[in-house]
Order: sequence, then C-alpha cells, then structure tokens
Amino acid sequence: MADASVVVTLDGSAHDPSTPLLYADDLGAVRGDGCFETVLVRGGRPLKARAHLDRLAGSAAALGLPAPNDGAWWAAMERAAVLFAEAAGEGVDGALRLVYTRGRESDPSTPTAYVTVSPVPERALAARRDGVSAITLNRGYSTELAQNAPWLLMGAKTLSYAVNMAATRYAAEQGADDVIFTSSEGRVLEAPRATVVIARGRTLVTPPDEQGILPGTSVRALFDAAHDKGVETAIEPLFPVDLVMNDGVWLISSITLCARVHTLNGRALPDAPMDETVRSLLESGIENTP
Ligand SMILES: *Cc1c(COP(=O)(O)O)cnc(C)c1O
Repeated sequence: MADASVVVTLDGSAHDPSTPLLYADDLGAVRGDGCFETVLVRGGRPLKARAHLDRLAGSAAALGLPAPNDGAWWAAMERAAVLFAEAAGEGVDGALRLVYTRGRESDPSTPTAYVTVSPVPERALAARRDGVSAITLNRGYSTELAQNAPWLLMGAKTLSYAVNMAATRYAAEQGADDVIFTSSEGRVLEAPRATVVIARGRTLVTPPDEQGILPGTSVRALFDAAHDKGVETAIEPLFPVDLVMNDGVWLISSITLCARVHTLNGRALPDAPMDETVRSLLESGIENTP
C-alpha cells in the first residue's frame, strides 16, 4: 500500500500494511461477499462516523452478516484515523475503508473485519479541484427493482464493485472521467461511487433512494446544511434532460466530496452559479454530521 497507510483490525491492533492480512479463501476476495464504507479522515478524525457505521450495519443486515460490533468498529476507526494523522500529518486528508466480509470459505462463522487508511488519491483531489467530465450509461435496471428484488442488494454498499469499476474504465476509454447511470426506463440514478445532485435555479435536487440508489451520507449532510442555511432542496425523479437543462450538476461522495460535472457526453454544461454554495454547504455538513 502507499506510504502513510494504516491497517487496524477490530481487536484494535495496528498491522504493517506491507504484511498480508487475508486468507486465500476469504469470501470477500473470492466472491465479493461483504460490505464496506469509505470515510474521510481529517485532522485525525473520521467524519460522519455515526452515519457510516449505521449504513455498514444496514448493508450487513441486507447481506445476512452478523450485526457489526459497533463499539469495536468505532474504536478501530478512531485508532486508525489517529495513526494516519501521526504518519501523514494533520493537514493530509485520508481515505478510510471499513471492510466487513463473510470470512473464510472454510470457516464462514467468523467474519473478516478491518479498517485501512491511505492518503486521498490524486484522482479524487483533481476531481474536487477541476471538476469532471462524465458520460451517461444504462445500468439496465428498472427503478422499481430495488423494492421488488431485495436479493439484488441495491441499498447496500457491497464489495461486489466489479461492474462499477468496469463502467468507470469504459468511461475512461471514451475519454471521460466518470459515469452517471440511468435506469432502463431512463431515470437518472447515481454515479458508480457518488450521488448525483443538480441545481434548478437555487434549488438542489437529487433522485430518491427508492429508485435503487445507495443512500449517500454526503448528500444527506449537504441537504441538512442546506436546510440550516435556508437553501431549498428537493428529492424527486430526474430525467436525462435534467442533466443538460440545469444550473449545475455535481457528483457528491465522502472522499471526493464535490466534483462538478463540467462536461456531459462530450458537451460543455451550463455554468453552475451555485458551485461555491454547494462546496461550502458540504464542508459545513460533513463537519456537523455525527
Ligand atoms: C459510496 C457510494 C456513494 C456515496 O456515498 P457517500 O456516503 O456519500 O460516500 C454513492 N453511490 C454509490 C454506488 C456508492 O457506492
């Protein structure tokens, strides 16, 4: 792993990141059978820690994994964040991962659980700073599927991320930085790693989770901060035309935070007069979310 990386297991012990940790038959590695979270570390502190642990518990329940030991995860997360700040310096943002898998194929009664922290990747820092170009891709799902097909685990943040990464590589081959997925009936869903928010005038709009979108902790922090500051928000279905006719499009997530989409399907998008507002609302939202 990169310099200044940290690995902490749930017994609280720190491990040398260059030493192997998993067994070869870990079901997370061989089947993607598990869930994860990515959490921003700033000033030696995991941000929105409560929200991430709550979502981890929800993902674990959807997967039929044992309920995560909240106190142990909390302690491991705090220890890892402090160790990262000591190694990298308080001014360096860290990307912390919570990893929870079904454990070994030969002993699936004991889940695998650990926390890692590394510096936020350059790709994410560039997206924060410069924005991104994106293409829309069909996810092939109906917006109704999330309600009717719980085995698809659509509200869970699972380790089965190969499709998301393949979509991102496909975008790169087309010369784009990121992807916005649409449903089979042509509703805007989400990006492979982020929630879509648009501005319509001075109102911030995001599509409903019930359409098969992961409930984002960052968009919730953004909307909470918007309510506090009197900025209007709405949760409603979005159509591809909303990605073109608008006053700004952003991809919102814990590590990248706010990436403005400046180009969609090869065409420049209109200016985003709310860009500074969205950024500062998200900054205050993530500081104030437990
Ligand atoms: C993690 C993730 C997000 C963003 O969630 P945050 O809690 O804001 O980081 C959005 N969509 C998908 C598919 C994700 O995996």
